[in-house]
Amino acid sequence: MIRTPADLRISIDSAGLERRIDELALVSEAPAPVVTRVLFSEADLRGRDYVRRAAREAGLAVREDAVGNIFARWEGSEPGLPAVGSGSHTDAIPNAGRYDGVVGVLGAFEALAALKRSGFKPRRSLEVVMFTSEEPTRFGLGCLGSRLMAGSISVEKAQALRDREGRSLDELRAAAGYKGPLSAVRLAPGTYHAFVELHIEQGPILDAGKIPIGIVEHIAGPSSYRVTLHGEGGHAGAVLMPVRHDAMLAGAEIALAVERAAKASGSPDTVGTVGVFRIEPGAVNSVPFRAYLEIDLRDARMDTRSKALAEIRSAAAEACAARGVRMEFEEINADPPADGDQETVAIAEQVCAELGLRSLRMVSRAYHDSLFMARVSPTTMIFIPCRNGWSHRPEEYASPEHIASGAEVLAHTMARLSA
Ligand SMILES: [Zn+2]
Repeated sequence: MIRTPADLRISIDSAGLERRIDELALVSEAPAPVVTRVLFSEADLRGRDYVRRAAREAGLAVREDAVGNIFARWEGSEPGLPAVGSGSHTDAIPNAGRYDGVVGVLGAFEALAALKRSGFKPRRSLEVVMFTSEEPTRFGLGCLGSRLMAGSISVEKAQALRDREGRSLDELRAAAGYKGPLSAVRLAPGTYHAFVELHIEQGPILDAGKIPIGIVEHIAGPSSYRVTLHGEGGHAGAVLMPVRHDAMLAGAEIALAVERAAKASGSPDTVGTVGVFRIEPGAVNSVPFRAYLEIDLRDARMDTRSKALAEIRSAAAEACAARGVRMEFEEINADPPADGDQETVAIAEQVCAELGLRSLRMVSRAYHDSLFMARVSPTTMIFIPCRNGWSHRPEEYASPEHIASGAEVLAHTMARLSA
């Protein structure tokens, strides 16, 4: 029988959860209020100690895998069944805030602790994961832990990763105490019956609409491309206009093509950005002979993203041909978008309705570990508002009430999924 919130009395210890969020925020490479915890830095290792301790305080059994994903488990009455998972990350980019990721780890611990206090007994095991390196700071690639779990990155590719100092993943994880083959990180099929990640929205929709809960139906897939343009330089006075091969102007046409293609893709969720644009030699009296662009293209749908990319590529080729500029167009990374599981979404939605909390179905525009968990498990995310949509900055803020509501919805949703 599936228990309803009416006969399951869950009381989230909001003050305790706030205290733990505050304590973890102090584990940082930079002074408060800045939170910086880069993968396998000294602060990240202390953060991991804190997470293990908090998991044990919540009465959960802790284990870790070869890349440092931390699992905190509450064994169900039928431990052989696929478990119900939750979790997020605790690494933080330089100059970040205290809620991104952390709410989904410490909040999930509190959700399970509250279920324990209520006397609930899960049939399926309940498990919280702290994923290694959701942020791309160290290796330039995000969601390393969940990618490996889902088999979305090969072991060879993971082993080839290097940080800015040239250190490899194997070297750094060994120094952090994580040994054993990376191949063992990959989840066996059917490990999770469902996965639900609690996270701050990192966008303004819930805050502006005063809606306490968002339920994620689609997660946008990020992709990025590197464009190098080789033109011909020369004196800005001496090289006349008809014979120029200006790499910067070809780049400018490409940047405008990115905007045009994203707007005309047919999906409101297509977004295209040229966030890097460098030219050489960068002198006022010199025709740019080289331009270097990086394009970020995201969408909740694959077909419209592919269409936009094709248009960008053909417009770029055309602009370069017309200007006599040679182009290299290289994919840096391209992850397909993921859909939330409709049944899991509906359960979370029903929980909100029964708790009297307004909820909104949403697209997650940022990527999360759930993008990869969705490849191996029915998945959704529970979003809570954050002030002005601010994230990845020290002013990031989510209220204790919203965090507690998110943890409560998570607890009930996991309880139902575990029945
Ligand atoms: Zn995050």
